[in-house]
Amino acid sequence: MTSQDEERYRRLRQGLGQIVRMRELGPKSPRWNRAWKRLLWQYEKALQEASMTVVAEFQPGRAFLGRLPEEGDLVAFLSDFCQKKGVQAGWISAIGTVRRAVLGYFDQERQQYRRISIENEMEIAACQGNVSLKDGKPFVHLHILLSDEEGATFAGHLFESTLFVGEFWLQELLGPALERHPDPRSGLSLWK
Ligand code: ZN
Repeated sequence: MTSQDEERYRRLRQGLGQIVRMRELGPKSPRWNRAWKRLLWQYEKALQEASMTVVAEFQPGRAFLGRLPEEGDLVAFLSDFCQKKGVQAGWISAIGTVRRAVLGYFDQERQQYRRISIENEMEIAACQGNVSLKDGKPFVHLHILLSDEEGATFAGHLFESTLFVGEFWLQELLGPALERHPDPRSGLSLWK
């Protein structure tokens, strides 16, 4: 993406933000609402066209099924495992229980994560994510759904965890390397 494209995208995003805020300020007439919706739709469409989509095609490689280490950290263990086995791309799923965890919620406006600390024993009701490369090393990106003694759930991006017990499945994917790079538009590290 050229810097001109980046600039266009930045302006479109800024414009869209202003249009969304206009909703609060404008008169509430049906005619105004229709015009507002049309403008919103035009900006959304332009943004979709200006944004980048990255898709790579893979073949299935090795599949690993195993136990997670007690007192280990889910992301750190799987990153290390991928490094040792030379897995550069893959799909991960895990279940089990944790003693504690730190989840993340990405604040799109501020472009930063809000950290949610859970100092409780919880079930890993579901956990899934992928492996790709960042700075030339395997990078594990996981999202998790945790449930407490009442079955109430917490969910989000997984930063840290202390495992009690757990099991994982890792499907290696063979094909072109997908690399994460800082994306100034979102504030995240994305595939380019
Ligand atoms: Zn995430």
